[in-house]
Amino acid sequence: NRHIILAQHPVGMPTSDDLPLRQGEMPSPGEGEVLIRTIYLSLDPYMRGRMSPAKSYAAGVQPGEVMQGATVGQVIESRLDGYDVGDYVLAFGGWQEYSVQGKDMLRKLDPKQAPISTAVGVLGMPGFTAYAGLLEIGQPEEGETVVVSAASGAVGQVVGQIAKLKGCRVVGVAGAADKCQHVVQAYGFDACVNYKDDDFEAQLEAACPDGIDIYFENVGGKVFEAVMKRVNDFARIPLCGRIAHYNDTEAPAGPDQLPAFLTKLLVKRVLIKGFIQFDYAYLMKDFVRDMGSWMQQGKIRYQEDIVDGLENTVDAFQGLLQGRNRGKLLVRVSED
Ligand code: NDP
Repeated sequence: NRHIILAQHPVGMPTSDDLPLRQGEMPSPGEGEVLIRTIYLSLDPYMRGRMSPAKSYAAGVQPGEVMQGATVGQVIESRLDGYDVGDYVLAFGGWQEYSVQGKDMLRKLDPKQAPISTAVGVLGMPGFTAYAGLLEIGQPEEGETVVVSAASGAVGQVVGQIAKLKGCRVVGVAGAADKCQHVVQAYGFDACVNYKDDDFEAQLEAACPDGIDIYFENVGGKVFEAVMKRVNDFARIPLCGRIAHYNDTEAPAGPDQLPAFLTKLLVKRVLIKGFIQFDYAYLMKDFVRDMGSWMQQGKIRYQEDIVDGLENTVDAFQGLLQGRNRGKLLVRVSED
């Protein structure tokens, strides 16, 4: 059973020294457990936090432990009622080829309903994050302008499409021309600007002639600063992620922006609310209903970026933190 452990807490960008690939024993299920062959491993930005010793909303992985992560797999041995060999399941199997799980961490998947990979993407945690954050905190109204950063990624692509379904003007922010082109052409965003362009701020200004009513914040850094200059009265900011800062090793240089930022919130009466998707579990039923129907009607599309082989996981994860992925990032650990 090949697996990747957290050998040490990374400083800055994680490397294969921090996350070495090891060969291990085949695990064996106890009573009430199943043995799962991992097909897809989901790679998500939150994993950078789990590698860190800093206190967060969930406990981190300890050095020596297998790195955590959501997986889609197939049951190959079962000692759990209701689960048979051959069943496809969503699990939290981690960065490894095989895992043993009890029923609390399992959900059965029906491959006839949707491709199994979507259980960790558009129909899973990232899709739900978009749905809950945009609708509960953003409260989009028809005609409003919604800006979303990391626009082509797993969460951002869904945020923009739901905002379009709600009748909003949607402006994406992404780090590559092809990403911008994709969100406009494939998902119907009204515009998308590349924050790496020299005239990024002018492009953002032009794309938001009526200012910004909702900013779905995924990245932080200069994108956040540029957006804050253009928020309207009563703007809402679902604070979902800050990926530009996940590898930071020290506070940014420059003047303290906090007083000016808080004054802006006050004067513009801006609502900014940090959230973690699991706080909104009460919306899961609505999400399953709405997203299922939107997908069936072809109203929501999605893009996956599938990397082959567990041995390429660390490189792919580095790519996620550098913007190399095109859509929801997955590792294909074994064949479907
Ligand atoms: P994505 O699929 O969007 O992949 C990450 C993307 O982030 C990259 O492709 C890159 O896109 C962008 N990025 C990376 N580094 C930087 C940087 N320095 N500055 C700006 N953008 C950068 O990931 P997800 O959709 O899975 O996650 C998006 C965000 O949502 C993350 O911040 C994540 O932590 C957060 N999240 C929060 C949850 C919650 O419950 N609060 C749940 C799930 C996700 P580009 O090329 O455009 O820069």
